[in-house]
Amino acid sequence: MTEVLDLDCVVVGGGVVGLAVARELAMSGREVVLLEAEPMTGSITSARNSEVIHAGLYYATGSLKAELCVAGKHKLYEYCRERSVPHKACGKLVVASSEEELGYLEKLSRQAEANGVEDCYLIDAAELTRRQPRIRGFAALVSPSTGIIDSHSLMQAYITDIEANGGAIVCNSPVIEGELAADKIRLSVGGRDPVKIEAGLVVNAAGLNAWALSEKLLGLDVSTIPPRHYAKGCYFALTGRAPATQLIYPVPEPGGLGVHLTLDLAGQARFGPDVEWVETIDYDVDPRRADKFYSAIRRYWPDLENGALQPAYSGIRPKIAGPVSGGGGDFVLQGPEKTGHPAYIALYGIESPGLTASLAIGQSVARLAGKAFAGNPH
Ligand SMILES: Cc1cc2nc3c(=O)[nH]c(=O)nc-3n(C[C@H](O)[C@H](O)[C@H](O)COP(=O)(O)OP(=O)(O)OC[C@H]3O[C@@H](n4cnc5c(N)ncnc54)[C@H](O)[C@@H]3O)c2cc1C
Repeated sequence: MTEVLDLDCVVVGGGVVGLAVARELAMSGREVVLLEAEPMTGSITSARNSEVIHAGLYYATGSLKAELCVAGKHKLYEYCRERSVPHKACGKLVVASSEEELGYLEKLSRQAEANGVEDCYLIDAAELTRRQPRIRGFAALVSPSTGIIDSHSLMQAYITDIEANGGAIVCNSPVIEGELAADKIRLSVGGRDPVKIEAGLVVNAAGLNAWALSEKLLGLDVSTIPPRHYAKGCYFALTGRAPATQLIYPVPEPGGLGVHLTLDLAGQARFGPDVEWVETIDYDVDPRRADKFYSAIRRYWPDLENGALQPAYSGIRPKIAGPVSGGGGDFVLQGPEKTGHPAYIALYGIESPGLTASLAIGQSVARLAGKAFAGNPH
């Protein structure tokens, strides 16, 4: 007969967000077990992104994205300094290619300020050329507090904190299904060593799979599960020297931030991600998408040579809003009041800026868990 383990907190999903949540819960004194389906943590969306520390410019003021990005950015820089996580506050330029787009930049600048990002300022074309001689534009918005980070070192630091505070991380452990009991949740875990668990708190941090996981919890009110949309983003790597020393963004497109230039910590350039609405998960990068990349990039880097782009990798954004509604949508953090069960917390739509916001999301979830615990002494 399969053994039933009685646990305090179970976090399902070992991406950067699940790890940050488990870290915060472990540090607040809870017994935490994190279950990860894959052989290693951080191998899905958390390994397939731009590794940018976002400043918090774009998100609607008052949204969770705005609030948690700005708070998370400050916490993240501090954490990186304390824990020697490789990162660089290299800054970014959002480039307007026409007078019309300048109007957008002015709006973005006001939006940033309203979100508590107070260091942004506009520069004209001459100043843009002086700073980045190979980049062309009508004007640019400078965001000094945007940066880049080694996300795998960050996740390793979170893992160290989880384990130092008594938490456990178990890979190869997919949660297959579950059932809501009066004040607990029963989970069936598959993999090499299947096990049944009873937990006083379950946090669903399963990323792209968060919706499917909730659907497999018997007794959950399915009307609490938001709509699910996937937006794939492909990247192309640049062969040769990067055209700029800072991140270069165009004005955004629906569903994404536009095909931008990001740099890794070694100074290597890549471009992306674009936006393709998909139904299924498939990470292939179609080389034919390069055509659109060349034209998008040449708007701000006209000298990009033919043949300089190579297909690199892709990621898929988990979203609660699709193309019909403009592809926006906020993060959804459902505590027990919203999920309707005292032991269930569910996170949906944790797309960008989830990496930047991870520490702040961890703290928010720990607060929700505190409330759950007060009403549900396990
Ligand atoms: C193209 C792209 C670019 C991005 N760029 C940036 C950026 O520059 N800056 C930024 O701040 N953010 C960025 N993001 C967002 C960021 O990558 C995500 O918000 C973050 O990685 C989400 O982490 P997560 O832990 O929620 O999800 P994931 O990393 O997807 O982790 C979820 C984990 O759950 C596991 N899992 C799923 N189902 C189960 C189950 N049933 N049982 C057990 N485990 C399960 C999965 O295996 C996975 O490891 C980007 C995202 C994309 C797609």
